[in-house]
Amino acid sequence: MKPSLPLVLCLSGHDPTGGAGIHADIEAIAANGGHALSIITAHTVQDTHNVLRVAAVAPLLIAQQIETLANDCEIAAIKIGLVGDAEQIPPLVQWILRLKKPVVFDPVLRAGGGSNLASAALIAAVTEHLLPHVTLLTPNAAEARRLAPGLASLEQCAQYLLSLGCQNILITGGDESDPSVINTWHAREQAPKVFAWPRLPETFHGAGCTLAAACAAFLAHGSAIGVAIEQAQRYTQDSLDRAFRIGQGRRIPGRHT
Ligand code: PLP
Repeated sequence: MKPSLPLVLCLSGHDPTGGAGIHADIEAIAANGGHALSIITAHTVQDTHNVLRVAAVAPLLIAQQIETLANDCEIAAIKIGLVGDAEQIPPLVQWILRLKKPVVFDPVLRAGGGSNLASAALIAAVTEHLLPHVTLLTPNAAEARRLAPGLASLEQCAQYLLSLGCQNILITGGDESDPSVINTWHAREQAPKVFAWPRLPETFHGAGCTLAAACAAFLAHGSAIGVAIEQAQRYTQDSLDRAFRIGQGRRIPGRHT
């Protein structure tokens, strides 16, 4: 039986502020007409300023949760955010191969507040084993440079990441200093497509998770990749326009439409 809303299997960290992580996924996917199946990859200790601690969930527990859901529900897309540690990668890849659905991966390597969220071992496992199965990768500029170290330009980083097998990359520029936010979509055998968005005042907590989850929702509806990328950016920009304050650090996106 087909579910009445397209289901997105989300594997993300839990952010107790509700700004980023699995909260962002559930809200952004619901606002875009989907339903999130939510699996927590890591618990975090954080506030609206920064992440203080990441505690990974056991890979076996994650694998059991995916298997139980996959046996019951028809999954239309997969969204991966913060990966708790390198040991979580093999079960994730195994299920991606079994489910054969579009995969959006937001490589959460560094918190907006500056904390490092990924070890060298995790980055190596992601690069070697996960990226070849990714439909859409959504790094910010700093994350793209970290996944493709030593390359001079973001264009070169994108070409390198495409050469690893990932099909599409949307490099976001919220963390850069251009007057507009410049996001660039790269795919093989296609000229890069540039999107420019007004840079809103202040910075936000959870913008990247919102964008990636919205992309997954549109892909779960069956949208073409270019449509998903465009619509998800529009939704994210609107959410940032509605951002609200819950603490003393960055504001969080207003994802409810
Ligand atoms: N915590 C979790 C669980 C996340 O998934 C993310 C980002 O995706 C962050 C914290 C950091 O979010 P930001 O960089 O927007 O502050």
